[in-house]
Amino acid sequence: MKKWIVLLLGLGLGVVPLFAQNRPYDPAHSLGISFRSQENPYYWKNSPPYPGYWQQDVDYTMEVRLNTKTHTIAGHEILNYYNNSPDTLTFVYFHLYQNSFKKGSYLDLLRRTNGDYSIAKLSQKEEGGTRILKITDGLDRALKVSIDNTIMKVVLNRPLLPGDSTRFKIEFTTHFSKIPHRMKYNPSHGFDQFTATQWYPKISVYDRRFGWTTDQHLGHEFYGEFGTFDVKITLPQEFIVGATGYLLNRNEVLPPELMEKLKIENFKNKPFGEKPSVIVPHVDGKTKTWHYRAVNVHDFAWTADPSYRIGEVTLKSGVRVYAFAREWKASKWQDAAKFAAAVIQTYSRDIGPYGYHKMIVADADEGMEYPMITMDGGESPRYYGLFAHEEGHNWFYGMLGNNETYRAFEDEGFTQFLTSWSMERLVGRKIDQKTKKFPFKGVSRDRYRNFMAYLGIARLGYDAQLTTHSDWFENSVGYNSYRLVYYKTFTMLYNLQYVLGDSLFLKTLQKYFATWKFRHPYELDFRNVAIHTTHKDLNWFFDEWLNFTWSLDYAVKGVKNKKTDDGYLAEILVKRKGQMIMPIDLELTLADGSKKMVTIPVDYWSKSVPGIEVLPNWYGIGNLNRTYLAKVKVPSKVKSAQIDPSGRLGDWYRLDNRSGILPKIKVAKPFRSAEPPLDAYLLQWRPNAWFNDVDGVQLGIHLSGAYLNRFGMG
Ligand SMILES: [Zn+2]
Repeated sequence: MKKWIVLLLGLGLGVVPLFAQNRPYDPAHSLGISFRSQENPYYWKNSPPYPGYWQQDVDYTMEVRLNTKTHTIAGHEILNYYNNSPDTLTFVYFHLYQNSFKKGSYLDLLRRTNGDYSIAKLSQKEEGGTRILKITDGLDRALKVSIDNTIMKVVLNRPLLPGDSTRFKIEFTTHFSKIPHRMKYNPSHGFDQFTATQWYPKISVYDRRFGWTTDQHLGHEFYGEFGTFDVKITLPQEFIVGATGYLLNRNEVLPPELMEKLKIENFKNKPFGEKPSVIVPHVDGKTKTWHYRAVNVHDFAWTADPSYRIGEVTLKSGVRVYAFAREWKASKWQDAAKFAAAVIQTYSRDIGPYGYHKMIVADADEGMEYPMITMDGGESPRYYGLFAHEEGHNWFYGMLGNNETYRAFEDEGFTQFLTSWSMERLVGRKIDQKTKKFPFKGVSRDRYRNFMAYLGIARLGYDAQLTTHSDWFENSVGYNSYRLVYYKTFTMLYNLQYVLGDSLFLKTLQKYFATWKFRHPYELDFRNVAIHTTHKDLNWFFDEWLNFTWSLDYAVKGVKNKKTDDGYLAEILVKRKGQMIMPIDLELTLADGSKKMVTIPVDYWSKSVPGIEVLPNWYGIGNLNRTYLAKVKVPSKVKSAQIDPSGRLGDWYRLDNRSGILPKIKVAKPFRSAEPPLDAYLLQWRPNAWFNDVDGVQLGIHLSGAYLNRFGMG
């Protein structure tokens, strides 16, 4: 009881008293910062993105216990909720995400309509779900609730006025469902692993744009309020825990002598797959309580496994990067912390500084992001891309708190772009060696594959507006158009880079991050930052990429050279075959062997790149001005013209993107499944043998050809 009072007093002051002293802000020592204080540089009130902006604040304190026999987390949660909105609230909503893994849930019923009975088949013991045992206000008065599957409505006992706060006290249990999806029980080699995600009653976001978000959880994406999480997790003593937040009692639960034994380097020669050793034995009834505190986060996740071994790298910035690998995989996770650290460094340098003191990459057979911790899988070096992606989410999701349920492209698409951004820089050399065969020098394998994935979906007719609710994309067999949030956004961002030029594009991304980190941006906020940073009207760009399913398709129709007094006037006829409008970079190859770059803008603004000549703009829409005659003065004849040699333009059909009657032809080696080139017709052949009574055995060649044949685009 006493402990309880001390805890409440601490909460009343807005900060755990132990850390109340003021320290200069440093992500490596962010503990001293109270979320709602002037010292917190990330608190939205200290630098609102615009005057009048507001968002709600949360302050969670949880004490929970893991029952490894029943696979249940049980405990209580105290939530202080601050209403910074101009509205008086008489009720609030909570997410009970795990209820989607109960029989009869909306997710279950939806899956059944698609012939998926995975949830329907679960026994009661195997179902997931969060049960609310008790919910009261700060004065222990019961609150009226109604639960509709994953959404719980709570009616307040008194209206919550603007600027006021209220408290919820909740006793709950959450059961790990048998379906291993993000939150999961995942044993291996005789050791239990529990990964707890979206595991507690989490208040819905009430934001300045749409008010309450009450989406039922159908498996797609999350949204949360920023604030503080103080979490104590009690479990059998042998478990090693990785979680969001600062581990307050490290000396008690993970003292140096234990860390020494857990060092991943100790297991570098252990055969892959061999049963893990026991470092902390199980003793019935012996538990440890791991105590974490996280500031400036909108979620809290954790993973626990007795066989976790730990790699560690400290960056110059003070950020600690940990790899948690199961011992049986430790030999192939030796460079995990190092690579994960390099990823943090890359994004911190190029997008904006990482705002937390640590990052964990955990070996949890997953691919999912949470603040300061990502659940990963695989092994070196194949996990590089996964780390680059999930860590990237700590920028686009973690620090930029998008409403990703509503618009998944805002976090998934931007993160997909970041992934290839860091992969090109960190693993670039390896990629370049492999990509020699790719048609464009500047295009990495990663970029090529993302673009091809978008093209594959779009050209088969499953393109969709990116401004679509994450649950509303069409689930066609084999072509789930939800994946557009990754690949089409990825392509859009490369095309924005193509439109703006490298430095202005990067400046835009940085400005967006700096303005909106630890806030709740929407698509229009990115658009707004882009327009104000570049001083260019980009509405046409965002409209056509986000709100339509138009095709992007340009062609070079012909080249003529007219003799002039001091050289030639080249006339290059370019055609817009698709509906989308984009500026066109043209590379001209002259008879004297030199090259000349020109660009055709779509309005009165053009990127300024040294050595690139800007031509008069091409105003066109629908069937207005389908063609454009580029006139360029050149010292010798133009032999050929090529649209976008950088390979960034998301053109759907590139065989006609260069002048000449015949497209490039590439001959593939027999029996190899070649990746179809973007700018060439692929010929494939294989020797054939057949037999008939008249001729006996005959040998021949089977020849087939196609453009981008992987998607049936003959
Ligand atoms: Zn993602």
